[in-house]
Amino acid sequence: MTTSIDPGDEIKQAITSIKNLNEGQNEFLQAVREVFGSLEAVVEETPTYITQKILERISEPERQIVFRVPWQDDNGNIHVNRGYRVEFNSALGPYKGGLRFHPTVNISIIKFLGFEQIFKNALTGKPIGGGKGGANFNPKGRSNDEIMRFCQSFMTELYRHLGETRDIPAGDIGVGTREIGYLFGQYKRIANKYESGMITGKDPEWGGTLVRNEATGYGLAYFVREMLGESDSDIEGKTFLVSGSGNVATYTIEKIQQLGGEVVACSDSDGFVHDPSGIDLDLVKQIKQVERGRIYEYADRKQGVNYYDDKSIWSLECDVALPCATQNELLKEDAKMLIENGCMVVAEGANMPATTEAIELFQESGVLFGPGKAANAGGVAVSALEMHQNASLHSLTFEETDKQLQNIMKEIHSTCRDTAEEYGTPGNYLNGANIAGFKKVANSMLALGLI
Ligand code: NDP
Repeated sequence: MTTSIDPGDEIKQAITSIKNLNEGQNEFLQAVREVFGSLEAVVEETPTYITQKILERISEPERQIVFRVPWQDDNGNIHVNRGYRVEFNSALGPYKGGLRFHPTVNISIIKFLGFEQIFKNALTGKPIGGGKGGANFNPKGRSNDEIMRFCQSFMTELYRHLGETRDIPAGDIGVGTREIGYLFGQYKRIANKYESGMITGKDPEWGGTLVRNEATGYGLAYFVREMLGESDSDIEGKTFLVSGSGNVATYTIEKIQQLGGEVVACSDSDGFVHDPSGIDLDLVKQIKQVERGRIYEYADRKQGVNYYDDKSIWSLECDVALPCATQNELLKEDAKMLIENGCMVVAEGANMPATTEAIELFQESGVLFGPGKAANAGGVAVSALEMHQNASLHSLTFEETDKQLQNIMKEIHSTCRDTAEEYGTPGNYLNGANIAGFKKVANSMLALGLI
């Protein structure tokens, strides 16, 4: 089809107007640029996306909720935090995406996460829209009672916006099974109904699904297995670096080790441990999950381990690097070191952990790069299975759910690979994920009319 529009120019104009509207929201604008950077050929093929202003519409949340979260600590002092829920896009289904409790949370962070979530959820093939939420609350050092009071206050406002066909939160940084329990308990109390499907990441004892806890990390390992398969190589015997030591990092390490990979380092926000004999995951779980301690304690308890807080985990040698902590944790300098040290694959367990400049370097150097919206989609995919089980009152076994997760990750991988090829950029998973996710959502938005 011939068209009078200049796709590159149209995309630039859309980015400029989104930038003007969202001044200072750097993480959000970074995520928009990253997705739109893949869309030139798509827009050329379907100019209706431009005439129907899909770029502007898809980057404007359907609804943004910002609210006060007052709570009292154990000494009777009163604190006030700010809560957020960004209901970004419901073209494919109800809003779905996690809640983050971290002091750095602001509207830019929540919008970038919500924007990424739209395309990630589309890639899973499940009928779920995109959303994200959280609060600038720091759970570190808080007692169990304080965490419970904060969760109850947070849900006391948010509950009116949620529901199993409306908006379904889950966990993210700082929100695990314990917090999901307190949030669900307060929802149940206020709404006066046992609506299991209104939140995911629940304990399997009371409505959760097996494998949800492990799903993001296991899914990442399955995705990496597919990526390595493309280069005629497999996980066995390869050396891995995994940043973070929270939910995603822990279960990434677990599955990589089960598949025969050697993980030699992990981290927290203070520093990283290098264990050349292979990370002892039981010890990491004891320190991080049971004692809620710091990763340096690992080096105190195991011989032959070094702890560093003055250099980057990405300075170590590896075959595969898996950033699983937070956004923008892998910089251009880190990418350079990884490339120089022979790293062949990088896949994102966290959301947007690699900066734009780092990704460009990987792509120029032929390092296979798996973007988070594809590589870490296993968590939300199993959340969708949890919603399905809640609605049907039928529970799957661990093995059945794990099998479905493997199939979903395989499918996401081939969608990204094939779409990248179809649009003339073979091996570029970033383009493949962005294009496939975008087309699905954009076409649904067109079908639903101007809403
Ligand atoms: P957790 O809270 O369980 O763990 C986060 C880990 O990252 C901790 O080890 C934490 O260290 C570290 N970390 C946090 N902030 C920083 C920082 N500024 N610099 C260095 N390290 C940091 O969170 P999750 O494992 O659930 O989430 C990790 C990432 O994965 C996030 O980007 C999240 O959005 C993404 N994700 C999570 C999913 C899930 O199912 N949970 C699904 C898909 C993506 P410390 O203890 O010092 O804070």
